[in-house]
Amino acid sequence: MKGKTMKIAQRIARLGTETAFAVSAEAAAFAAEGRKVYPFHLGDMNLRTPANVMEAAIKAMHDGKTGYCPNAGIPQLRETLAADVSASHGIPYTMENVAIQPGGKPTISKFFLTLMNPGDEVLYPNPGYPIYESQIEFHGGKARPYSYIEGERNFEIDLDMLARQITPRTRLLVLNDLQNPTGAECRAAELEKLAELVRAHDLYVLCDEAYFDIRYEGRSTSFAALPGMAERCVILYTFSKKFAMTGWRLGAAIGPREIIDIIIKLNVNDESCSNHFVQYAALEGLTGDQRATGQILKTLRERRDAAVDRLNSIEGVRCFRPNATFYLYPNVTGAMQKKGLTDYDAFRRALLHETGVSVCTRLHFGRPLAGEKNFYIRLAYAGIDTPEIEAGLDKFKAFIES
Ligand code: PLP
Repeated sequence: MKGKTMKIAQRIARLGTETAFAVSAEAAAFAAEGRKVYPFHLGDMNLRTPANVMEAAIKAMHDGKTGYCPNAGIPQLRETLAADVSASHGIPYTMENVAIQPGGKPTISKFFLTLMNPGDEVLYPNPGYPIYESQIEFHGGKARPYSYIEGERNFEIDLDMLARQITPRTRLLVLNDLQNPTGAECRAAELEKLAELVRAHDLYVLCDEAYFDIRYEGRSTSFAALPGMAERCVILYTFSKKFAMTGWRLGAAIGPREIIDIIIKLNVNDESCSNHFVQYAALEGLTGDQRATGQILKTLRERRDAAVDRLNSIEGVRCFRPNATFYLYPNVTGAMQKKGLTDYDAFRRALLHETGVSVCTRLHFGRPLAGEKNFYIRLAYAGIDTPEIEAGLDKFKAFIES
């Protein structure tokens, strides 16, 4: 093998990644030295999948649901999910609007493959889930970022910036309402303004609703439910977060039938079908006892409050208390100044090495934009218990204030 120069396809140069995985590797290396790590960098959950969901998967295996199944997913799951999302969104979906996927993530690339031509421009959130930027560019599109700004109670989309980014070549919008990393949630006025822009510029929309059900009070509103939007929106649905099923890999693309039919054809080409017996587990998740999912939210909320209270007690740190997601995106500009640091990675590493607190920073959520003046880090609290949150953030405080 030595000495051979591989002729890798050119498109691979445009493929991005989730650099947050490198933070996990650094934290693991630090832990391997026998040091204590407080894992706030993880997007993963340390909560167990509900027992009834696990049992349904085991039963399905024993019942022989171990062969291929329909490319679009088993009909019972498509029907049940369509009914569930119709009820929560107020949109009349049927099973023809649902294509089951091996996770939420595959909907991202399948959306671009279906609707984006090379050179088309796509509006996407930055800071945001890094896979949008990667997949837009990989498939030959032009990624046009829009940003978030600090509002009174939470982050808000910078709608002026978003409108300025629209050109005659803009074709698609990616909206991750209940957002990773900021925890932002659009207010009604923001959603309406976005719908106006979508209508005016004839855009299609990827509604990444990975966190639609991870909310602590009130009900989520889907952008797809606004007048005229359902026919323009593909919803990324996932079982990962609500049912603590990140490793099971099951989700869905939900949208207009013409688009879903193409996505099903992409399923045929990519993976034939999603895991057969896992679909019976998901069915149990949707229709069975909901007590465990309620407990998941209760635990997450307790963690959120512990983390926000402690972060806001640290000099130079300012953190909203988002009503959704399991992420916090505090402004740490003052804290970094206090430590004499102007570099994200230097701050992140100093924090890890001095306290064991492992976080992601703004750099892990897209290429920084010109003119950014404030510094942010992202803490996830889905993979760390409350006593550890408290102990870790007490060390964080002592480090900043020392
Ligand atoms: N979209 C967003 C915004 C996410 O944060 C994630 C996972 O962290 C996903 C999609 C993918 O979720 P899944 O695990 O279902 O593929």
